[in-house]
Amino acid sequence: MLCLGIEGTAHTCGIGIVNSRGKILANASRTYIPEHGGIHPREAARFHAANARLVLNEALKAAKIDIDDVDLVAFSRGPGLGPCLRTAATAARALASWLDVPIVSVNHCIAHVEIGRLTEGAKDPVTLYVSGGNTQVIAFDAGRYRVFGETLDIPVGNCLDVFAREVGIPHPGGPNVERLAREGKHYIPLPYVVKGMDLSFSGLMTEAVRKHRAGSNLRDLCFSLQETAFAALIEVTERAVAHTEKREVMLTGGVAANKRLREMLKLMAREHHAKFFVPPMELCADNGAMIGWTGVLAYRHGVRQKLKDTGVMQRWRTDQVDIPWRNR
Ligand code: AMP
Ligand code: MG
Repeated sequence: MLCLGIEGTAHTCGIGIVNSRGKILANASRTYIPEHGGIHPREAARFHAANARLVLNEALKAAKIDIDDVDLVAFSRGPGLGPCLRTAATAARALASWLDVPIVSVNHCIAHVEIGRLTEGAKDPVTLYVSGGNTQVIAFDAGRYRVFGETLDIPVGNCLDVFAREVGIPHPGGPNVERLAREGKHYIPLPYVVKGMDLSFSGLMTEAVRKHRAGSNLRDLCFSLQETAFAALIEVTERAVAHTEKREVMLTGGVAANKRLREMLKLMAREHHAKFFVPPMELCADNGAMIGWTGVLAYRHGVRQKLKDTGVMQRWRTDQVDIPWRNR
């Protein structure tokens, strides 16, 4: 069985082709980069519509298959930006009905976890999923992926990006903040906010921008911003590991590219005698292969959907999804 997975929650238009044994035959994508400021949802959706055919052709070519060989279509139903989700869903419905094959909708956050379990061999990890649009600590418990902690306001990637933009660090924000942080020498105190198991980054971002305007050294600020934000992420992930007694920790999402975050999480995992996993960056970032593979898992375990029941869900929560492919 070949599943074609369509990712379209935010800036990435991704199409992956995966077989029923989990072999990734193709993972093509194009990413929308705003000319200035953050992602404009309608602009991003237009980008998806304009690039879908190109990405589809690339995926088919890489997989060396014909469109008629596709047996199943999966798409990212949410969470994400409404216009982007609707564009990807429309493409998925059109393809499924034209090919006359089943369609399954996939939760984007769960797909990030599942692709890591597939390729890295993690069986039951506590996952720290950190990106421009999401920040969650996820672990499987009692039949579902539970959110052990999450941001109450902006995602950590967004915190880095907006800080960068406000202080004049060029795009891409996250990697450039990381580069400058390596040259930082002094820790400048910044608001460290953990509420119960949840996180908050907007006050941290605002204060870091304010300190820059007040004359603090930019390299020291980048260093301090990373140390503060990442320490909070590690604290919450560590408590999830201690509570669940799981022996695996996984890092994913675009911010997983950050070497300092990797180092901190790896140290924490070691202290808990847990194995540490990070998928390759093309699978940490938003991608179609993860949607295709999660579609395979769902379909193989009896998930069936009618076209009319595939409406997008902008705020679809990780813990709202039944996971028939995993044992309780
Ligand atoms: P995603 O939303 O998964 O596509 O990932 C994009 C996010 O990852 C953006 O917020 C980037 O700033 C962030 N990011 C990418 N590389 C790094 C890095 N080296 N350090 C920190 N953040 C990064
Ligand atoms: Mg993502």
